Amino acid sequence: MISEKMKGYVANSSVIRAMFEEGKKMAAIYGADHVYDFSLGNPNVPAPEAVKEAIKDILDNEDPLLVHGYMSNSGYEDVRGAVAEHLNGLYGTKYAAENLLMIVGAAGGMNVFFKTLLNPGDEVVTFSPFFTEYRSYVGNYDGKLVEVPTDPVTFEPDPEKLAAAVTAKTKAVIINSPNNPTGVVYSKEVIARIAELLEEKQKEFGTTIFIFSDEPYREIVYGDYEVPWLPSFYRNTVVGYSYSKSLSLPGERIGWLLFPSEIDDFSDMTAGANVANRILGFVNAPSLMQRAVARCLDEKTDVGYYAENRKMLMEGLAAAGYTFVEPQGAFYLWLKSPEADEKAFVAKAKEKQILIVPGSSFGCAGWTRVAYCVSHDTVRNSLPGFKALAEEYGLR
Ligand code: PLP
Repeated sequence: MISEKMKGYVANSSVIRAMFEEGKKMAAIYGADHVYDFSLGNPNVPAPEAVKEAIKDILDNEDPLLVHGYMSNSGYEDVRGAVAEHLNGLYGTKYAAENLLMIVGAAGGMNVFFKTLLNPGDEVVTFSPFFTEYRSYVGNYDGKLVEVPTDPVTFEPDPEKLAAAVTAKTKAVIINSPNNPTGVVYSKEVIARIAELLEEKQKEFGTTIFIFSDEPYREIVYGDYEVPWLPSFYRNTVVGYSYSKSLSLPGERIGWLLFPSEIDDFSDMTAGANVANRILGFVNAPSLMQRAVARCLDEKTDVGYYAENRKMLMEGLAAAGYTFVEPQGAFYLWLKSPEADEKAFVAKAKEKQILIVPGSSFGCAGWTRVAYCVSHDTVRNSLPGFKALAEEYGLR
């Protein structure tokens, strides 16, 4: 009965979500304290108190017809204006409400962007490993996702490999930094070189190639790492931002798309995105959440909490003899499987009640993702299991 395309999606349905469900079942059997579920990027730091206060105040003091009503498909004008001003303060830009569109999380925003942009057969490039859902977001509009592997040691993109993969059909390149699943923050040098090469490719083909900067983890960085602001490197950049991780609001489905005025076809792009938001059935981003985040633009999540998990995990895994990429941002640790078949390693970890995600789910076999947005106790108590597993593999 269901469509052929949907059959494909169901067959490849997210391994991560399946694991999350499995984790809940295991918790019922072994007790939640004895299951170390590192499968899902669901923040365990609560949203800042200011979010709750803002919601309460909005409900108590703003006009309910305004708060719960329809508004422009792009979102409340005052909210978009407030976000624009906030960005101007951070990046010295001159954005206004017309540059912003409020979205139903990064997922909603990417669907709006690709619905607006893609004809069947158009190509979108992503660096592997990559957030699995990109395949569906591009496939929804019959686009073709082209995977360009990152450097096998640093997991930074290789700009020359990107240039080789760009064709006359390339409509966009997705950049996700801080990266899910590797935790890598792409350096300024790499971004600048990508920008330079994409400018050349646009000239060569006489086309527009957008960078779509997928930035739900922008503020979650460790040490001195800085996340470059991509529109200042490359004119045809559209930014997708979400409050799912930065304010721990993943269930509330709220974020924004930024279309700088300088991009090609600005009017068509923004008019298209506005309509896409409506006809995809989102209509508009959740109204209460739009109003709430506009009051919390300076709020930050407790990155220190993730930093402590990161430190504990890195020390424990290094002592046990594992190889991994030191996370620079987000809350993921990219762990090398001690055997070539990382799915077998994931299965062995599961026997120790440790749930991690195979790298093949992100287009990169031989590695696994450990999402450490969990309690300190989960990290601490998982370490003996990781150690025992390392010993079985003879890592020490
Ligand atoms: N992009 C990346 C890289 C992600 O990791 C996620 C969620 O984990 C999303 C997009 C989707 O985020 P949202 O909850 O805002 O839709």
